[in-house]
Order: sequence, then structure tokens, then C-alpha cells
Amino acid sequence: MDATTTRMPLTIRLCQPRGFCAGVDRAIQIVVLALKKYGAPVYVRHEIVHNRYVVEGLQNLGAVFIEELSEIPPEHRASPVVFSAHGVPKSVPQDARERDLFYLDATCPLVSKVHKQAMRHQRLGRHVLLIGHAGHPEVIGTMGQLAEGAATLIETEADVAEFEPADPSALGFVTQTTLSVEDTAGLLKALQERFPEMQAPAAESICYATTNRQEAVKETAPGADLFLIVGAPNSSNSRRLVEVAERAGAKMSLLVQRASEIPWDEIANISTLGLSAGASAPEIIVDEIINAFRARFDVTVELAVTATETEDFPVMRVLRDVELTAADMAFVNGMA
Ligand code: SF4
Repeated sequence: MDATTTRMPLTIRLCQPRGFCAGVDRAIQIVVLALKKYGAPVYVRHEIVHNRYVVEGLQNLGAVFIEELSEIPPEHRASPVVFSAHGVPKSVPQDARERDLFYLDATCPLVSKVHKQAMRHQRLGRHVLLIGHAGHPEVIGTMGQLAEGAATLIETEADVAEFEPADPSALGFVTQTTLSVEDTAGLLKALQERFPEMQAPAAESICYATTNRQEAVKETAPGADLFLIVGAPNSSNSRRLVEVAERAGAKMSLLVQRASEIPWDEIANISTLGLSAGASAPEIIVDEIINAFRARFDVTVELAVTATETEDFPVMRVLRDVELTAADMAFVNGMA
């Protein structure tokens, strides 16, 4: 008997939509276009998106990742610096202007929309409640749109219980874009019960990509022996997908960055695998994982389509005259 005939059958339920969202696609495009237009180095403040494969790919093209603008050497002050898709506090572009730097802001338009909603609450005299995770760059960026003391971060039900506003009738909330839809609904319910006059933002803060990826996992997870989410440990939306899979009925759910992280010995007896990828995980890694399973199992892939996404966010005008080759496009779309 050869190796092929001994392989166990495995059905992979592959979620669609999965992986790159329009905001991630745009952010990567901005770095690639800037490298083509201005040449290396192009500085990028913080990981452009939370994915090591993407970051290393851009480093190979000449991007230099920094955490603070002060890391840009004076002789490279004319090189562009790109702000990541997660958004930055207002102090960062201000700092860039003071240092006479040329910056390109790759903040996702849907994060910018949350910034505007938070500023609107503030303008209307409301104290802002930001539902999100402490320390996440998006939360730091949103907080940094507002005056000192104008916002309070709400992470848990305990935070809701402890919060004592100066004026309970003058509150407004926004949320991080990549939260769990279910957990956020729970926190909002608790907040609304305590503060019935709290005002909602004019538009939903959790973005379409987060909602669609969670919905696809929720529909696909029941009964799966294992659910794999491709993504980085610091990717908020990827980590939420792991939780959604477990809650929706997957027997086990794991976050992996590459096929090499899959615990093959522990999963030898599975017959159904759910598979999805966070908004910052490139499709090439999903392919790598499917191929790794094909090498060990007799694989059937079933596509589980729950939504069609047509969102496309254009890059800033200054980069629109640069053309991308087919190879550039493959990288930007996560295929190379
Ligand atoms: S996950 Fe949502 S908010 Fe974040 S970059 Fe993608 S589309 Fe924008």
C-alpha cells in the first residue's frame, strides 16, 4: 500500500470572505507605490498591518519599519514615512510636520470614520466611551484624536460597572473596528442599561470586513474537529475569529501564522477542518496550509461563501500616477 492510499479523508470548509480587507490592501499598496515612486528607503511607522510575512516582504523591497519618527536619520528626512492602517494619534502627523517629514497616511478610511465620530461626540459636548482593547494601536490612535481626559476606554463589563461619568446625560460611544460583534453587543447592552441617554455614533464602528469574517466562521464552525485561523498573535480581528469559531461549536480552534506552526501530531484523527484568515493574513499562507494538509490527508475543499465583498479604497492622489506590475499586484493582493 503506498502513502496515498493510507491518507485519511479530510474535508476543509474554507470560509469566504477571508483574509485581506480593502483597508489592508490599500495600506500595502501605499508602501509599494511609495517605493516605486520615491525609491528606498520608505519608512513605515509601526507594522503597516499585523502580519510578519507582509512586513518581511516589504522590508525586502526596501521598506524600513520604525516605531517612532525620531528613528528616521536626518540624512533620510526627504524619504517618505507611511503611517499604518490602524491610524495614529493627532500628535504623530503634527510631529512629522515639525520634523519637516513627508508623510503618507495609510490609516484605513473606516478607522478614520471612527475618528470623526469620536470627534463629533466631543464637539457636541459628550464624554466619549471607546470600547476596545488597551494598548492596541487603533485604540491609541482613536484616543489620540481627542483632548486629554475626553474619553474613557471600556474593555470589560467591570469597566462598565466602575465608570462614573461627570454627566450621565452627555455620553457617546464608538468602538474599535475589529472587535467581536457578540462581545461588543454585550458591553453595549450593559452600558445602555446604566446610561440610557448614551448616544450611538452615526455609523457602525465595527467594520464590514470584521463582521463578514466573523459571520463566515460562525456558520462554518459547528461540528468542525479543528478550526484554523491564519493570522498574527497581535492581530485583533484574527484573535476574535479564533474565539468565534470555538463559541460556534468547533471542537478546537487555533491561530497559526504559517503551516509550520500546525501541531500535526495532535490532529492526526480529524476529519473536518474549518479554515479562515484574519484581515491582515495573505492568501498565499492559506494556500501553503491547504497544501500542507494535502500532503498528509486526502483533502476535499468545500468553499463556504457567506458574503461577497466589493469594497475598494483608492490610494491618495499623489500615488495614483504610479503603475503596479502584475507581480506587484500579486504581492498587494496577498498572492505572492
Ligand atoms: S479590518 Fe476593517 S477597519 Fe481594519 S483595515 Fe480592514 S477594513 Fe479597515
